[in-house]
This record gives sequence, structure tokens and C-alpha cells, in this order.
Amino acid sequence: MLVISNSSARRRTLLAAAAGLVVAPWAAAGTAHAAAPKVYLDPGHGGTDPGAVANGLTEKALTLSIALQTRDILKASYSVDVRMSRTSDITRSLAYRTSDANAWGARIFVSIHINSGGGTGFESYRYPGTGSTLHSAVHSRVLSNMRTVGSVTDRGLKTANFHVLRETAMPAVLTENLFIDTVADANLLKRAAFITATARGHANGIAAYLGL
Ligand SMILES: [Zn+2]
Repeated sequence: MLVISNSSARRRTLLAAAAGLVVAPWAAAGTAHAAAPKVYLDPGHGGTDPGAVANGLTEKALTLSIALQTRDILKASYSVDVRMSRTSDITRSLAYRTSDANAWGARIFVSIHINSGGGTGFESYRYPGTGSTLHSAVHSRVLSNMRTVGSVTDRGLKTANFHVLRETAMPAVLTENLFIDTVADANLLKRAAFITATARGHANGIAAYLGL
């Protein structure tokens, strides 16, 4: 339905648009320049810090694979701006990761890790006292996507006073994607399909939170 305008210029434009002669300029202005949401992905560890190592696997390599695939899925599927704390095997301090995300003006921060210390399954963290919307969106989708490949225990949504959760100025979540030192979990982490499913879960959760 066209809204009647008192402006003859606007009326002429409306008539021209209706005739297919021009693209209505207000429509273009309303859609073409909306800023893409800024998503910060933080693959845990890297460089001189391997993270946990067991069963022939290294945490820093797994987190990088999951994060790179999460970025690629997001960029292929949505209009979104993605920045990462690292895209290769380099050392990044915890302070670098959070100050870089804060300086960039990230809308959300997602840190990706692999668990260790005995146990099995998936768990995730947010800072105590903060809202659970991002946390819940990511947790549920990572779990459901992991379960398309194998059996995964849900260890639940947890809170912790981690640097990357405390020092980030935006909603932040940290995922612990199975236990590297548990053979059954390690066998899943060795499967390319499981890594891709884990990345898809992160991407789907991020997209759901952002309403993409
Ligand atoms: Zn870690």
C-alpha cells in the first residue's frame, strides 16, 4: 500500500518507482547501510601455549580449526563482521584477546576451548551475574549439532570468573568442547565431521542470538 504524501517530489518518485523506472531511494537507504554485527571469535591458546595435550591431540590446534570453520560458516551464511584473536598458531595473551575485542567494539565474544582433567561431554561458561541469552543460544546449538555426529554428555551451563569473560565489555561465552584426555571424547575430536558440526553449532547459536 502506498502512503499518500503531500510532497510532489516524493509523489513523483513513488509514481516512478511504481512504474519500475527507479529504485525508491528511501528503500535503498534503509537496507544497504545497516552495519553488520561484529562477532569476535577467540580460539583458545596458540603459539607457545599449546593448552591441553593428550591422545595425540593438541587443544590449540582444535580450537583454531573450530573457530576458523565457525567464521567461514558465519560469513558464508550471513551478513556479519568477524574478527578473531588469532587465525594461525601464534601466541596471544589473555589481555590482548579482551582488549582487542573491546577496542574493535565487538557485539559478542565467543571463546573456544577443549576440556581436560578427566570427564566427558560439553559444558560452557558465562561470567557470574550476567544474562544467559547468548550463553543459552550457543550452548543448546553446539550440543545439538555435536549430537548429529556422536553421543555427547550435556555437562550444563556454568559460570566462572575467567579473564576473557570478566574483562570483555560485551556478552561473552566460553565453550569447553569435550575432554581431550578422555579416549571416547578424543575419538570424536579426531573426526572432521565432528569438528565441522561443532563449528556449525557455534555459528548457529551466534546467528540465533543476533537474529540473523
Ligand atoms: Zn583452554
